Amino acid sequence: MSRVIVFVFDGLQKELVTEELMPNLKEFTSKGVRFLSHQPVFPTVTRVNSATMVTGCFPATHGLMGNTAIVPEFSKTEPMNTYLKDHFVELIDKGGDPLLVPTLAQSMATLNLQYTAIGIGSTGQSFVHHPYLSDEEYGSTIHPEYSIPERLNDEIISKFGPWPEASRPNTSRIERMIDICIDFALVEQQADVTFLWCSEPDGSQHGTLLGSDTVFESVKAADKGFGRLLSWIEDNDMQDEIDIIVTCDHGHSSAEKIIPINEMLLEANFAPPGMPDGVTVADNGGALLFYIEGKDFETGQSLIQWLFSQYWSGPLLAADYLQEIPGVLPTSLVGLDGVRGPDIALSFAWNENANLNGVKGFSYVASGREGCGQHGSMNPTELRTFTVANGPGFLKDVSISSVSGHPDIAPTIMYLLGHSPPSHMEGEILYEALSSQKEPKSGRIENISYSSQNEIASDQYSQQLIISPRENGGYIVSAEYSH
Ligand SMILES: [Zn+2]
Repeated sequence: MSRVIVFVFDGLQKELVTEELMPNLKEFTSKGVRFLSHQPVFPTVTRVNSATMVTGCFPATHGLMGNTAIVPEFSKTEPMNTYLKDHFVELIDKGGDPLLVPTLAQSMATLNLQYTAIGIGSTGQSFVHHPYLSDEEYGSTIHPEYSIPERLNDEIISKFGPWPEASRPNTSRIERMIDICIDFALVEQQADVTFLWCSEPDGSQHGTLLGSDTVFESVKAADKGFGRLLSWIEDNDMQDEIDIIVTCDHGHSSAEKIIPINEMLLEANFAPPGMPDGVTVADNGGALLFYIEGKDFETGQSLIQWLFSQYWSGPLLAADYLQEIPGVLPTSLVGLDGVRGPDIALSFAWNENANLNGVKGFSYVASGREGCGQHGSMNPTELRTFTVANGPGFLKDVSISSVSGHPDIAPTIMYLLGHSPPSHMEGEILYEALSSQKEPKSGRIENISYSSQNEIASDQYSQQLIISPRENGGYIVSAEYSH
């Protein structure tokens, strides 16, 4: 059994992993397992994918469906904003659960194993690691604005000083995160799993053009911190004890144009949230989640027909009760159904145009800054990750082309810790990457193609998804649409 570090570079694009910008990650990549098709879940946004990584389940099962989403116990008409820890706390106060299954941290706590999350992204991102932790002995969440258990906040500040201010690039906070990782999580706590969430390059990409100097500086800073951690492990001869998984939650595109969806729905005569047959939209950047009051079939049908005729619509998924409408594909294909599933999930349309810095890929969005980085859609530039692993549990210098995804991370960590994954985890142990040489789970089904079409006035809408199916969901290998 080993100890595990997960290092998430939020929103990292593989094109940024160069000798010049990220020499430490580049070298790490050359030595370890390179996952060539490791997929995020849809919508390709941060908290959905963090919840997926820390539960080993698809959104349908863990219940965190979007960066914003309708969670009935929070509000039936106002999307909950998972960027904010306060919204999770409000949800708990109202009797709702942030996640519908235990996290890896909770599963580890029952085995007396220490899980420490250190995050410098949003307060909500850090919160999903340990939503229920109060004074348990095993488990810690450390964030610049709070810690769980609460007393840890003072302890961290007394040991390391006040947190530096957030900045773009977030260099000082990255350095502090690495200090805490080494001196506190690894040395003092002897954490079995340390989960680091680096807010860069995502933060800088949202605020500037992709490929800008700010983005380059942000990945240099993130790589420097990562390199310092690697050097410390090497200087202390711990390479044979610690497995490191590096990944990112989603990719990025440039925001083509902001679509004012709420205004447009009203103009198209859809009833507002709270009214009979009212439509509520949850903004997920490059994706939209729609909720229909009373699950009214006719409203769903009108809404789908309307969406199919919009030039900014890409792939469209819908709940089971809307499946007889031509052109839709089921949300269950990608694990976006379940008790909190939206009635309709739409990926915005995209193109392969290059921005002023030559970075390809634009998507229509519901929010963000036009021209700057954004994500959430099924654009191939967003629907991918940069994922590499290195350490005693992993093979050396090998590329894995079979499809894997974020639900596989938690069960693989459980295996590396010497334990069986709990039965609720839907991802699979990535044996194909492990030095133990066990065969991958037999019966894994090859990719399946799903397509659908609908005639709308003079137009025809069609879509095709290639899915690698898994228990209660599937990884989107590729997505196409036309109209
Ligand atoms: Zn992110």
